Amino acid sequence: MKCNKARELMSAAVDGELTSRENQTLTLHLKECSLCREEFEEAKKTKQIIQEKIVRFKAPQSLVNSIMELSLSGCKEPSDPPMID
Ligand SMILES: [Zn+2]
Repeated sequence: MKCNKARELMSAAVDGELTSRENQTLTLHLKECSLCREEFEEAKKTKQIIQEKIVRFKAPQSLVNSIMELSLSGCKEPSDPPMID
């Protein structure tokens, strides 16, 4: 397999989108190609960092709930004005 094909498989692999057949092909290539092996390690690291960032910046559910409550109470229909004859 050519390295550029391996790169394609790598990016799918870090997203967990490889079939077992493709995974096998990639593993074989990585065994004999140290360049791609390094590349793959980097790709996995980058992916991991991104995922950690997403987790870190995700608001806790309790905060989401209180924001929802606030916006709901702020959107209450105004009570009807008193009737004037
Ligand atoms: Zn390669």
